[in-house]
Amino acid sequence: MARKFFVGGNFKMNGTRKDLKAIVDNLNNAQLDPNVEVVIAPPALYLEFVKQNLTKPNIEVAAQNVFNKPNGAFTGEISVSQLQDLGIKWTLLGHSERRNELGESDEFVASKTKFALDNGISVIWCCGESKDTRQAGETIKFVENQLAALAKEINDWKNVVIAYEPIWAIGTGLVATKEQAQEVHASIRSWLKQNVSEKVAEETRILYGGSVNAKNCKDLAKEEDIDGFLVGGASLKPEFVDIINSKQ
Ligand code: PGA
Repeated sequence: MARKFFVGGNFKMNGTRKDLKAIVDNLNNAQLDPNVEVVIAPPALYLEFVKQNLTKPNIEVAAQNVFNKPNGAFTGEISVSQLQDLGIKWTLLGHSERRNELGESDEFVASKTKFALDNGISVIWCCGESKDTRQAGETIKFVENQLAALAKEINDWKNVVIAYEPIWAIGTGLVATKEQAQEVHASIRSWLKQNVSEKVAEETRILYGGSVNAKNCKDLAKEEDIDGFLVGGASLKPEFVDIINSKQ
């Protein structure tokens, strides 16, 4: 089965209604490659606003995070049933900014991923190493450990998209080379083959994230195991359209 190219936009903690309306209008008016799945993740406060303003039927909206328990006494969190109430079908989980700034462990991220999947929410699950880990030559081992924590919790991978996002490349302008990204993507796929199944390895989309822009996306998109992108800064700009269309 061919893997459908996937481009996610992670708006992070950015935007007002005015800004987001402009971003959504730009997408509504663009010619987007029909063979690409597009999912945008605005801040939780604006999920409904963005969803209501999107007129392109093939763009989905994602949360940036969701909790691992049903509705209840969890101040500041949002639940999967609240996402469903708004018709939101996707969430990001395990972004390095949450892992590092908020101390989310591999196990916590895995448990949130399981809870979301069990309740019908698809997950863009993020992983990736720091600069120190890369310099120590431990990138593959580090990412495999993150994957192992996830694989311990979940059995059904069909609604999981993996985003490999080296921390040193996020928001720095220091994009991974196509060789660096392809090496990690191939090793993630081979880990899935050995530890989950050949089918899951074949079918799971593995996105690259970290300083993707309109200039570098085309080369990266040619790599065998790069099935799309998770885009931060450039997803707030008109060039996001060029990234969506990087296979054209
Ligand atoms: P960036 O962020 O594209 O701004 O580097 C990517 C991400 O954090 O998802």
